[in-house]
Amino acid sequence: MKLAIDRERLLSEIEALAALSDGEAPAVTRIVFTPTDLKARAWMKARCQDAGLVVRQDAIGNGFARWTGSDPSAPVVGTGSHTDAIPNAGKYDGVVGVLGGLEAIRALQQAGFRPKHSIELLVFTSEEPTRFGIGCLGSRLLSGTLTADAATSLRDDSGASVEEVRRQAGLAGDLREVQLPRGYYKAFVELHIEQGPVLEREGVPLGVVEKIAAPASLRVIVEGAGGHAGAVLMPDRRDALCAAAELILAIESAGQSSGAVDTVATVGICEVFPGAINSIPARVRLGVDIRDTSLARRDGVMRTVDEACRRIAGQRRVCIHTELLNADAPADCGPAIIRALSDACKKHQFSFLPMTSRAYHDSLFIARIAPVAMLFIPCRNGYSHRPDEYASPEDIARGTLVLAETLATLAG
Ligand SMILES: [Zn+2]
Repeated sequence: MKLAIDRERLLSEIEALAALSDGEAPAVTRIVFTPTDLKARAWMKARCQDAGLVVRQDAIGNGFARWTGSDPSAPVVGTGSHTDAIPNAGKYDGVVGVLGGLEAIRALQQAGFRPKHSIELLVFTSEEPTRFGIGCLGSRLLSGTLTADAATSLRDDSGASVEEVRRQAGLAGDLREVQLPRGYYKAFVELHIEQGPVLEREGVPLGVVEKIAAPASLRVIVEGAGGHAGAVLMPDRRDALCAAAELILAIESAGQSSGAVDTVATVGICEVFPGAINSIPARVRLGVDIRDTSLARRDGVMRTVDEACRRIAGQRRVCIHTELLNADAPADCGPAIIRALSDACKKHQFSFLPMTSRAYHDSLFIARIAPVAMLFIPCRNGYSHRPDEYASPEDIARGTLVLAETLATLAG
């Protein structure tokens, strides 16, 4: 089978999709269920229908475009990503996986390949958390990671619920029916820009993802006692910010001492109340993000942070409350898909790096119900989520070719 990627068509489609934006070019802004997002979905649906694919949309708007295999009842081989974009983003995040996935299917069709397993392009709803404050809304529902009830009540900044917004977007049906049955997918593989600097720095054109890291996020409230910065003497103080400062360093050291490079711990929010120069901080709110590729190791870091909270609260006579906001489990990729991706790279003599995905993607959630893997291509300077995000035509075409080969292996 001789596979040919139509690079010009693929690049012109990436440009056409980028033009459907609420941001001024080159910035792309496409927030889920806005008129622009709906236009992009309609445009995408037409491209899939042009390719002869059978399209359907579920109740949350995840789009499926199927090339039916010779055994229609066999589990599906899936590929895809997202087309929503945060404000002032670039044109490649997500889109490369969606349009590259479509182009991979067309290349297989043109090469005369006949899949045994159906091959399905999946366009996930709201990978970005911009509107409803939670990322991967579509894939969380598909995998049952988020219940329909919990999804229904999520609201955007204007107070509109997911339920209202999706109905306005013309989506009917029961959200409980979005969840896919176990065994629906034989495999799922997502092509994506790396969003980091490793491939470019190493001069390697492809990354085969073996693990996807996942975050746990905590809200920490430190309650001390406020007072006049002049009148309350040092022995009498219960300064919430000084306690928080110790805790921030304890969190850093918990991340450093886990014994693995994959462990990262970050305090990204520190709000001080009342926040006046002549007032002792009475209360501090911290936002903590702890990530790892191993759930056990991440849980270990969380326990260390808990112990630090107790110790610091005792020593400094403050109260420290922690609230777990979110804790997604990391995922290991499927060995058979990793092998298929690696073999496809070798077949075309493309060098590749085994990698860890440190950002999370829809594949993390699909991993709950199916074997997944990801294929990364480089992006300039590692930039992503900004207008100057860039992936070269060669890299996009190369990734698409490897994706097509891999789909053929998995669906054959
Ligand atoms: Zn993405």
